[in-house]
Amino acid sequence: MLPIARGIYSGLANITRSSRGALHTASSLRCKASETAEEKDAENAEGEAGGEENQSSSSGPDPKDRSKVIPVETSMRYLKSAAYKQTYGNDFVWTQYRRNHKGMYAPRKTRKTCIRQGRISTGNPCPICRDEYLVLDYRNTELLEQFISPHNGNVLSYSKTGLCQKSHLRLTVAVQQARDSGFLTYDVPFREYDYSEYYGQEQKKKDIN
Ligand SMILES: [Zn+2]
Repeated sequence: MLPIARGIYSGLANITRSSRGALHTASSLRCKASETAEEKDAENAEGEAGGEENQSSSSGPDPKDRSKVIPVETSMRYLKSAAYKQTYGNDFVWTQYRRNHKGMYAPRKTRKTCIRQGRISTGNPCPICRDEYLVLDYRNTELLEQFISPHNGNVLSYSKTGLCQKSHLRLTVAVQQARDSGFLTYDVPFREYDYSEYYGQEQKKKDIN
């Protein structure tokens, strides 16, 4: 009895196993099929959602758009406003800025420009480009003074301020224009003159006359 029973049991077990296995495979296949179908549906839905988002973003204002020209007077008023104070506090506009670069060491030069074709083309625009109300102009002395060293009166390096090359060039030009037109004061280097040479020449001229 026992061996026969064992045989029956084993046979039953085999049948159940095989049937289960078959069931499993069938169900798993069905699952896979349904999953792929669901994934496709999800992808389609995402695509549609993305399309809708693009449409909505195109209709709203673009935060990276820099095609609008801000007048200098507006910028000068902005530098005295509560909005500016809330944004920067008592710091300079470049103090809190950090460059974004690959690896341990920053490249020697900053990027060429942040704005291409009237639009910000980078995720980490420089302190001047990121705020459209900071206008570099020779009359905007309050902004220019933030980029001048208190020790020697030179324009601070772009390695310190993080300005892009284009903004830095515009800054140096604006500072020079401001100095030429008397908006910014600066110290002229002290020179010692040998007046004996000068008077000597005067005397020679008198002798000739
Ligand atoms: Zn820039």
